[in-house]
Amino acid sequence: MSLSPTLELAKDLISRRSVTPDDAGCQELLMSRLAPLGFNGENLRFGKVDNLWARKGSDGPVLAFAGHTDVVPTGPEQNWAHAPFEPVIKDGYLYGRGAADMKGSLAAFITACERFVANCPEHRGSIALLITSDEEGPAKDGTVKVVETLEARNEKIDWCLIGEPSSTHQVGDVIKNGRRGSLHGYLTVHGVQGHVAYPHLAENPVHAVAPALDALANEFWDNGNDFFPPTTFQITRIESGTGSNVIPGECLVHFNFRYCTENSAESLEERVVAILDRHKLKYDLQWHLSGRPFLTDKGALVTASQEAIRTVTGRETELSTSGGTSDGRFIAPTGAQVLELGPLNATIHKIDECVKADDLDTLSEIYERILVDLLG
Ligand SMILES: [Zn+2]
Repeated sequence: MSLSPTLELAKDLISRRSVTPDDAGCQELLMSRLAPLGFNGENLRFGKVDNLWARKGSDGPVLAFAGHTDVVPTGPEQNWAHAPFEPVIKDGYLYGRGAADMKGSLAAFITACERFVANCPEHRGSIALLITSDEEGPAKDGTVKVVETLEARNEKIDWCLIGEPSSTHQVGDVIKNGRRGSLHGYLTVHGVQGHVAYPHLAENPVHAVAPALDALANEFWDNGNDFFPPTTFQITRIESGTGSNVIPGECLVHFNFRYCTENSAESLEERVVAILDRHKLKYDLQWHLSGRPFLTDKGALVTASQEAIRTVTGRETELSTSGGTSDGRFIAPTGAQVLELGPLNATIHKIDECVKADDLDTLSEIYERILVDLLG
């Protein structure tokens, strides 16, 4: 049985061992398909990271597809039923690392472009691809740097479609039109080290911080709003201790906020400091803001995507802002409308990652309809 062009390409991509930040030739493969369609490709390499900016056309509006060729590590390969970089289709599912996150959507977008350009060679505006191999890693030399490069030359993206696996039960049932912010806190509480038998000569930082952590864990941050679920606080790490008869001198606590637009990074930082101060702790506190929340309200891209999904699958789509952050956090601040639309996310980052083979063909049709609607 011969496979569809989308599945063939997805398999070709999966068979390249592109564990983050290694691209392993995936972008070259994509470019070998895009060049014959009239795309100009630029390799933008920063540090150890390969990025691809490919564009067909020089006018606006610009519809860009954004995604990544890198994948997360496999975990113990012997636990996989099928070798992670030897893609197979079995019982209607395509197996392999990256099948869902997100080599399947890359393939679907390329084949959508191929059909669209064949049917509509004189389309309006431009089609672009912004592809990085640093999404699953630190994300420092990837999309953020490409966006800076584009901004420096005044190159604008109007609509950005990200191929992240957004769907829950059936392809297209959920699209993400925004993401919560993510804020990390790194707290060090200082005490005085001493012998457990002589506590009056020491100060136990674990005892000191415990009630403050209780207060933080039970704090009501906000109620969320029409677009976002409520802000959440989670402790991710506690570390202290020097030996069994020693009162430790320090206690480290790491925590993370996933926050909505009812709070800001600044308001959360202030509130945490107030709680720590109320508990009279001696501490140092460092912050790392890994992404501010963003939201794309109803507009041409949302409408085109909902209509494309309805036409191809008959499904009504739910707009959601749940889940982790994505590279959309770097693109949205440029003023682009940003939307995530991809396959089911049930197996992403897991052992035996897979995607329903038919879903990739459906996705390719959806992407093609969006191209026709916005640029046809
Ligand atoms: Zn991904």
